[in-house]
Amino acid sequence: MADAAWDRPNIDMAAMSIDVEDWFHVENLKSAIPRAEWDRCELRVERNTMRILEILDGCRARATFFVLGWVGERCPNLVRNIAAAGHEVASHGYGHELVYSLRPGAFRDDILRSKHHLEDLTGKPVRGYRAPCFSITDWAVPILQDAGFKYDSSFVPTVAHDRYGRLNGMDAGRPIVRLRDDFYEAGVSCMRMGRHGIPWGGGGYFRLVPYRVWCWGVRAILRSGSPYVFYLHPWEIDPGQPHVDGVDAVARFRHRVNLERCEERFASLVAAFEWRPLGELIDRWKASHPGAEATMLDRGMPAASVGVH
Ligand SMILES: [Zn+2]
Repeated sequence: MADAAWDRPNIDMAAMSIDVEDWFHVENLKSAIPRAEWDRCELRVERNTMRILEILDGCRARATFFVLGWVGERCPNLVRNIAAAGHEVASHGYGHELVYSLRPGAFRDDILRSKHHLEDLTGKPVRGYRAPCFSITDWAVPILQDAGFKYDSSFVPTVAHDRYGRLNGMDAGRPIVRLRDDFYEAGVSCMRMGRHGIPWGGGGYFRLVPYRVWCWGVRAILRSGSPYVFYLHPWEIDPGQPHVDGVDAVARFRHRVNLERCEERFASLVAAFEWRPLGELIDRWKASHPGAEATMLDRGMPAASVGVH
């Protein structure tokens, strides 16, 4: 019944997300720039994020900005500007630690510190969370919900990356899943290959794949009836960021490939589709899937794996 609207080509079901962190926060450079060095690095995130806001504003596109708490503390006006421009402010945690490397108590402290600070800055509840490097794991989900989050957008249904996390009950064909009562996962998009997928959600993959091929993929995902979830980092439109010695060739490639072309590509992509924040995408999905939990059980998903308790 409600699936009729969902199954037609849904060109208006694309969500834009920006992970607001600076060039020195990334996992690929961690071996060369430890946490203790962050305060000595040149802060470029504010200028790069303001440029992203201009590009979005030029196309009346709205997005979710997953802000790192560390950035929010140093750039409070940036967070206020994001919210004032009509975008959703969500959390990228505080210290950019891989979730599965933390103990649950430390994870809880990290997400609460970030959430409370962002809420103080904007005066609005923070609903969404994205794990650093998509490092989500099952034990983190109830902690996120207890902390007051309503959704997570950290799952990438692929086997193509060594650092990505895992969640039971998710696959490339079902990008939005109700994990628990009133808590949803909105996975980052992949091109489906069986239960797995080729990452097609942004970041280094967006910089690597030819732009026309990328757009063909986005249209194919939307035509299949799935929503589309894209992500980018402000440092990806900044080819002038410092070069870092002491990282291996793979990490350097992942971090720097096609940085100089990314802003132009991103601006084209923003203009080519209609974008909305993730929170809004999930609300639309909920409205068109009132029986989503029953649907999952009908498909043979074990209740425990999708958190239907
Ligand atoms: Zn990140």
